[in-house]
Amino acid sequence: MSERPFPFLKFPRALPAEVSIPIRVLDFHEINADFVGSEAADQASRCIDCGNPYCSWSCPLGNRIPQWLKLVKEGRVMDAATLMHETNPLPEICGRVCPHDRLCEGICTLEEGFGAVTIGAIERSITDEAIRLGWRPPEATTTTDKCVAIIGAGPAGLAAADRLVRAGVGADVYDRYEEIGGLLTFGIPAFKLEKDIVRTRRRVLEDQGVRFRLGVEVGRDVAFETLVDDYDAVFMATGAYTAVDARLPGQDLDGVIVALPFLIANARRQLGTATAADVLPDLEGKRVVVLGGGDTAMDCVRTSVRLGAARVTCVYRRDEANMPGSRKEVKNARDEGVIFRFLAQPLAIVGDGMVDGVEIEETRLLDSDDDRARIEAVAESRHTIPADIVILSFGFLASPPEWCARSAIETERNGRLRVGGDGRLPLQTAHPKVFAGGDTVRGADLVVRAVLDGREAARSILSQLNVVA
Ligand SMILES: Cc1cc2nc3c(=O)[nH]c(=O)nc-3n(C[C@H](O)[C@H](O)[C@H](O)COP(=O)(O)OP(=O)(O)OC[C@H]3O[C@@H](n4cnc5c(N)ncnc54)[C@H](O)[C@@H]3O)c2cc1C
Ligand code: SF4
Repeated sequence: MSERPFPFLKFPRALPAEVSIPIRVLDFHEINADFVGSEAADQASRCIDCGNPYCSWSCPLGNRIPQWLKLVKEGRVMDAATLMHETNPLPEICGRVCPHDRLCEGICTLEEGFGAVTIGAIERSITDEAIRLGWRPPEATTTTDKCVAIIGAGPAGLAAADRLVRAGVGADVYDRYEEIGGLLTFGIPAFKLEKDIVRTRRRVLEDQGVRFRLGVEVGRDVAFETLVDDYDAVFMATGAYTAVDARLPGQDLDGVIVALPFLIANARRQLGTATAADVLPDLEGKRVVVLGGGDTAMDCVRTSVRLGAARVTCVYRRDEANMPGSRKEVKNARDEGVIFRFLAQPLAIVGDGMVDGVEIEETRLLDSDDDRARIEAVAESRHTIPADIVILSFGFLASPPEWCARSAIETERNGRLRVGGDGRLPLQTAHPKVFAGGDTVRGADLVVRAVLDGREAARSILSQLNVVA
């Protein structure tokens, strides 16, 4: 029997096995497994090496995707892991949480007609397998007497730490939380990213020589100025935590909660580290309405399903095509029973002491050339949808720490830290010893771009310290 000439015809696009819907909503475990057996190699063999690696160009990290797909196809797991780590310090994490459909996979030559190569799933499966088999990042070939303080153990801070210790520079990572990961641990729920994966990466980084100073809030437990004096450079990767306030009438009613404290309380409950401050309302049998349409809103609706809510509705003012969240997450939420009210905007939260509904009005899209579709209200379309719990998820703004002003670290009007320009190194602030990146510079964004900033900030710091990587 003759072989089909194109592996992408022999092997249709396939994702790793998915836990069935009735089972997966019972707990917080990841809903996808890794590829097993020859699955990753089979899927990697679908790459046609088209000569124009759009996938690499649309990956913020410039991952050398066709090259590592070829290694995976040849069964060279350890070599593939090495190549993945050359551009990406956290491949198993990006492989899980990147919105692949909007980045590398969305532009794959095979996408139209045959289905994109499953790049993200291969990236995570191969990294998991390599680490399980003992793969570790290459050791530093030199050591220096330099040391950098990193504030924030989120993806930006972790990526910078990896690059610095690989170049023989010490990295002390300070975080106010009790575990590393930032939003990887306390924001993104475990059904998207199992927390053992972050803990495994912590062990890898500690073995590389990264030192974590957890439960230490800079500005409270240690002065920022002390870090600036004691270290050769400081990298600020403190994230974006100021919730956008929509100022809705009734938002102070009992039963109205804000997305991130809700997700953090749930994450801490899963980790077994919840304190009295982590208030998680009882959602069993309740009608939950989530306002907003980004990744955080999708995490809130899917968490509510798992906490036993009877009915979960997501209200978003544009249509599905204009949602900022990943398509994959919208599909997952819908599969798990979430009801979507597109083209509907909230006007007020109503109730008497306790919330009992959300007043909404319908909207329509306007023709416009803007990237973001504009909307207008539909006259006489106001009505109230019943709710026992309302979760506000309108996004986050950067929140510059109080020390910025007194340390001559400039901020934009929207709170983001200003970096680069004026003859500075990339990601260097106006203070020559201080660098910044991730959400604190970009505003609420993506894990992969925080990783990029960490990698590039480390490059700038090494250049400033005259260390050859
Ligand atoms: C609910 C939710 C879901 C998301 N889902 C996705 C997704 O699916 N895919 C995706 O790509 N992106 C997602 N994102 C966005 C992504 O998580 C962020 O863009 C990314 O984590 C930013 O990384 P960072 O390192 O800049 O900041 P963070 O991850 O926020 O880390 C900042 C760290 O700094 C610490 N810190 C702050 N101030 C201090 C201080 N003074 N002292 C000590 N420590 C301090 C914080 O405790 C925190 O650990 C999501 C965001 C949220 C909120
Ligand atoms: S890092 Fe994200 S965008 Fe880049 S190849 Fe991996 S999954 Fe795709």
